[in-house]
Amino acid sequence: MNRVHNFSAGPAILPLEVLQKAQADLVDYQGTGSSIMEKSHRGADYTQVHEEATALLTSVLGLDDDFEVLFLQGGASTQFLMAPLNLLSKGQTADYINTGAWSTKAIKEAKAFGEVNEVYSGKDGNFTHIPTQEELAFNEHTRYVHFTSNNTICGTQFATEPETNGVPLVCDASSDFLSKPIDIARYGIIYAGAQKNLGPAGVTIVIARKDVLEGISKTDIPTIMNYRTHVQNLFNTPPVFPVYMVKLVLEWIQRKGGIPYFERFNLEKANLLYSAIDEDDFYSGTADLASRSLMNVTFRLPSEELEKKFIHEATAAHLDALKGHRSVGGVRASIYNACPMESVQALVAFMADFKTNHG
Ligand SMILES: *Cc1c(COP(=O)(O)O)cnc(C)c1O
Repeated sequence: MNRVHNFSAGPAILPLEVLQKAQADLVDYQGTGSSIMEKSHRGADYTQVHEEATALLTSVLGLDDDFEVLFLQGGASTQFLMAPLNLLSKGQTADYINTGAWSTKAIKEAKAFGEVNEVYSGKDGNFTHIPTQEELAFNEHTRYVHFTSNNTICGTQFATEPETNGVPLVCDASSDFLSKPIDIARYGIIYAGAQKNLGPAGVTIVIARKDVLEGISKTDIPTIMNYRTHVQNLFNTPPVFPVYMVKLVLEWIQRKGGIPYFERFNLEKANLLYSAIDEDDFYSGTADLASRSLMNVTFRLPSEELEKKFIHEATAAHLDALKGHRSVGGVRASIYNACPMESVQALVAFMADFKTNHG
């Protein structure tokens, strides 16, 4: 076996035991004579997979009866459009917190449907900062407050969700979904592309509060873009293989001890890595201390030349995909749920060696 230490921001590492289970099931799914990709999405085998994935997600997140779980397509990017299309009408307003490139895209889409208030923008500070509650003033009549819980590109993360005094949160949780506990009662909609923390690309998880769905009054929403179309029955063919993979990942999360386990584990990994960055000023973290992400750890070296060398030598040492996003440069280590402690330890050891040789 020749697996690298994989720090890819997305599509990202999957648990080895999940890949192996999928491999064992691939050609002949549980003795049925065909793979899960080759069966009707309305047949007994896939129905069971879909129902189990829903039940597992409900249990891992501790959802009560107030929420619906949907497995949709089109990525998180489609949700930038679908959320305001469903929830926002002309003459209504929605508050958006702009903490990076993904929030900026969500804002752009929402503007087609109603009044969008950018209640905070971190743009002038290169998105290195997450606003505190004092920096946020929501509009009295906002329909919802949209935020990006973790900013995959710049490496910042909300430590807790903003306080909105009962206004539903709409959250893009693509890159920290199920990595730590959330206060689910505050959310109207949570969406997440699976390919960062939950499975392969091709399925988008949408968790929607029933009263928010019931409150949708618009009548001109195209059928497939209407959240309510996807409640209860499958409207069209779901991404059967990604949903099956998500089910395996959820089983793995549950076996490990659920969200409480990953909260501890992710904190331990991030602390180890940030300690190595903070040791002296050879490495420097790019995010404000209080805004640092536990999922995407972004840092710089003393020069771009050294950064190039760092990434090149790291790759040769099987430490893969450490190059920062093209829009910000530097180094980014994505250490999602499935990233093992050994990979972070190997990176920290490499960083120490590199500093000795080039510092
Ligand atoms: C990756 C990412 C997206 C884009 O997801 P797609 O599934 O490619 O549309 C959106 N938001 C965040 C926070 C992301 O990390």
